[in-house]
Amino acid sequence: MSDPIRPARRDTRTTEQRIDDAARAAAAPPSASESEAVLRLVGVSRVYGSGEKAVTALAGVDLDIRAGELVAIMGASGSGKSTLLSIAGGLQQPSSGEVIVEGRALSSLDAKEMARLRRRSLGFVFQDFNLIPTLTAIENVTLPLELDGDPAREARRMAEVALDSVGLREKHNAFPDDLSGGQQQRIAIARAVVGGRRLILADEPTGALDSVTGEAVMRMLRTRVDEGAAGLLVTHEARHAAWADRIVFLRDGRVVDESRRDGAESLLGARR
Ligand code: ADP
Ligand code: MG
Repeated sequence: MSDPIRPARRDTRTTEQRIDDAARAAAAPPSASESEAVLRLVGVSRVYGSGEKAVTALAGVDLDIRAGELVAIMGASGSGKSTLLSIAGGLQQPSSGEVIVEGRALSSLDAKEMARLRRRSLGFVFQDFNLIPTLTAIENVTLPLELDGDPAREARRMAEVALDSVGLREKHNAFPDDLSGGQQQRIAIARAVVGGRRLILADEPTGALDSVTGEAVMRMLRTRVDEGAAGLLVTHEARHAAWADRIVFLRDGRVVDESRRDGAESLLGARR
């Protein structure tokens, strides 16, 4: 089952402890252990198909993202951005290389451990929000916790904290259709971070939003990362990538360039 050299760390904390830990992580500056990479890609390649039809979507990508760090991935359509994100989130496996999330090599996890890690450590945010229309805001955020076996009352409390943190205190009982696109995306962000999840993976989360709303959603993502999560953001838009600490440029599945925020100067000249 699990690799004896790298024993699976089972989360034995109670729900109360997890709420407390999440609150503490949000309040405290990152400690030495938190500055370890939350996500590490080592020589990750992905080939779709085989023989003459083989397409190399990723070719030897190395990437580390630490707690408190937001990394933007940019690149032309077909450069491998979505493949990178889904491999980072364990939705598909690399053809070679390794993905390490919070110190655990994904290849060492069995299906059950993998599903658990996805629910406990990872949050996905997509362009089209992916909310369940028949559930209220609070129910959408509560659902993944309840699916994972958290008692309903505790799950609800964690969901309330997450929704409040994205400024939706007044909208807990609203249905997605009665909310604006920006508010819906904020629910999706709350769902991505609820219960203290540390790695947020966002594939063009502002793609369906107007520029003012997109900006607000970026501010929200940035805040969550500043509170201790690690973020990987795919975007086409330079002004949204400018919220990142680092921009990684992909071409034909390879990292061809990287730019870092340098002091007070914003990336790509955009202003925060
Ligand atoms: P991006 O998100 O940057 O547009 P993708 O990761 O979606 O890039 O795709 C990278 C390359 O892999 C493209 O050439 C694409 O056509 C190919 N590709 C992506 N998914 C598949 C798949 N499921 N089967 C075959 N080829 C794929
Ligand atoms: Mg894509």
